Amino acid sequence: MNSSLEAFFQPRAVAVIGASRDPEKIGYALVDNLQHCGFNGQIYPINPKSAEILGLKTYASIIDVPDAVDLAVIAIPTPQVAAVLAECGQKGVPGVIVITAGFGEIGGEGRKNERLLVETARQYSVRLLGPNCMGIIDTVIPLNASFAGGMPLPGHIAFMSQSGALAQAVLDWACAEGIGFSRFVSLGNKADLSEIDFIRAWGADPHSKVILAYLEDIRDGAEFMALCRQVTRQQGTPIIAIKSGTTAAGTRAVSSHTGSLAGSEQAYDTAFKQAGVIHAASVERLFDYSLAFAYQPLVASNRLAIVTNAGGPGILATDAAERAGLQVANLAAATINRLRELIPDIASALNPIDVRGDAFEDSYDMALRLALADANVDSVVVILTPQKLTRVEETARVVARVVAEMKNGDQKSLNSNQPLSSKAASINLPVTPKPVLACFMGEAHVRDGISLLQKHGIPNYAFPERAIEALQAMWQYRQWLERPLVPPPRFDFDDHCLREIFAQVRGDRRVALAETESHDIAAAIGLRVPKAELARNREEAVALARLIGYPVVFKIASPEILHKSDLGGVRVGINNDLEARGAFDLITARAHRFAPGAQVWGVTVQEMVPPGREVIIGMSRDPQFGPLLMFGLGGIYVEVLKDVVFRIAPISAAEAQAMINEIHSAPLLRGVRGEKSPDRDALCQALLRVSQLVHEFPEIVELDINPLVVHEQGAVAVDVRMVITPE
Ligand code: ADP
Ligand code: MG
Repeated sequence: MNSSLEAFFQPRAVAVIGASRDPEKIGYALVDNLQHCGFNGQIYPINPKSAEILGLKTYASIIDVPDAVDLAVIAIPTPQVAAVLAECGQKGVPGVIVITAGFGEIGGEGRKNERLLVETARQYSVRLLGPNCMGIIDTVIPLNASFAGGMPLPGHIAFMSQSGALAQAVLDWACAEGIGFSRFVSLGNKADLSEIDFIRAWGADPHSKVILAYLEDIRDGAEFMALCRQVTRQQGTPIIAIKSGTTAAGTRAVSSHTGSLAGSEQAYDTAFKQAGVIHAASVERLFDYSLAFAYQPLVASNRLAIVTNAGGPGILATDAAERAGLQVANLAAATINRLRELIPDIASALNPIDVRGDAFEDSYDMALRLALADANVDSVVVILTPQKLTRVEETARVVARVVAEMKNGDQKSLNSNQPLSSKAASINLPVTPKPVLACFMGEAHVRDGISLLQKHGIPNYAFPERAIEALQAMWQYRQWLERPLVPPPRFDFDDHCLREIFAQVRGDRRVALAETESHDIAAAIGLRVPKAELARNREEAVALARLIGYPVVFKIASPEILHKSDLGGVRVGINNDLEARGAFDLITARAHRFAPGAQVWGVTVQEMVPPGREVIIGMSRDPQFGPLLMFGLGGIYVEVLKDVVFRIAPISAAEAQAMINEIHSAPLLRGVRGEKSPDRDALCQALLRVSQLVHEFPEIVELDINPLVVHEQGAVAVDVRMVITPE
């Protein structure tokens, strides 16, 4: 356990500052919870107006406590908190929980007061949880330094919540569902301790098999990602997180395609994925997934078997599995034969295995054993609907028994008075346990069966889709564990040239790069760009067009006009001098008309690039996670089609390939209907080069290459746009 947090995880003496005799006060609930949670250290109520609270000797101030105090819980009016925190510091208390609200969350004054708390804590080397939090609960110590309505059941789930109120509801619900926790913390305003500290501590905690987080924001995106990667991969502790609320993306005006498509939603989702964090879309899923991880072994692969006594739910499970990227396993011929032999009236011996509506527990027993024994099967979902003849509890018992036998290395007749049928006993369970999830559907008739399953560590899901999603989360984690970690490649860029261009732009007090400047940047990082020159008047345009060679493209050159086609500022396929003169006049006239205030430098004369597949590579800097790289189908319809994917840079070659494969129109990048395939290598290279550029040059705040035209051989960056920070 992390030493700086020892005060929170192994306190020997806890003080409650603001303890109260009044059962309606938080100061009472805190003392009461500490007294009734099994904590065997000292409890010191602090209150200048009482001599005794709940039978405990009470002190007027923390300073008066004769012995050392490891953890102080503060629940007093807001204006007094800072002074009392300082007293804790003077007393040498290493950990303080501030329950009191009215700080950063109210803004203005509150934020200032919160900063004062942090400064005070730093001054005395006190670690601070909160303010505005519910406290901490630990079933391992045990300790309940919170005002939650009681102690949760012990278990292997470590849970942190940025919302105290949500946590209250969740803990209560979990208690009814029989779900247990190892540790729980209410993070509050995260003035000092944050998700980072607890993920670090819990990642190495043998009592916590899975970490759950309800987060509203993240303190430090880069640190969060690095830590989660380490915890999920090296320490093998899965992290499941739900993120609510949107983060303000700053006041910066978004001018790029990428900027308009990249919200904080995308950034979080992408960051979670790249850090191995399983992103739950709802609180329900957060717990659905956690049960599978906490109680069942991790899946080895994605082939599942379904055992059911009803056709419909089996089909629902099959459909859900397909959507989730799981495979309904092809059972081995031997399994199918034995199913038919051992369960003569079986409705289907193919997967889903349908044991029929009138099946008793013995059919479930054999079907489950045979499914688990099949080498083509990695996990089993047992579905039961309570039909007239169904023996719910007996079936639950059989499932629990098979799972226990598998876990304990196939020791038959384990904790059951009933001897195993010889037929069932003849089936050898796998040596490495496979996850089994249950889906006993209904309510009144299945309740006792479900309790029995839960008691034996078999998660039950009300509907097949939820069980399947939990398996999908496990499969996602398995893939993450097995993904080779290859560092991004490193290219040699002309850094000097890049820096010079940025200096030039800033010298002009601009933030947007001119087309020629951004093309020079693209060239400096090794991308191919069309030949291009700026023409300031009609005759210069004609001369340049001849020099570059017809056909050419004219584009309006203005630092203020970002989306050139929108006002008719792009003419492709100019074939001769006559057309060139006309195009120059037309484009500049349109610019003056549709963008009256804009500075017009002239037109950019560009080499005409042969047609190819148009894609977009972009970047928008996220305030939390930094360079959010985007890839998608490009051209002028990007915002309409929204067929784009994101990654946080820098990315590896495998990730670049994955991005290319993830967009919906990915088949278009493989060549359809006899077309030659666009050059995927060149595309991948371009993504990697841009990734390195935006990673190494944080001054670039937005970037769009739209389109990058990908040919059968090579790719050309036809339109590059970039915005940098002012200084
Ligand atoms: P904007 O995005 O500002 O409207 P672009 O430079 O992207 O302007 O041009 C719009 C479209 O014109 C591109 O998507 C591409 O289809 C076509 N185009 C632009 N430049 C060229 C070129 N050099 N060769 C071929 N086609 C081009
Ligand atoms: Mg464009």
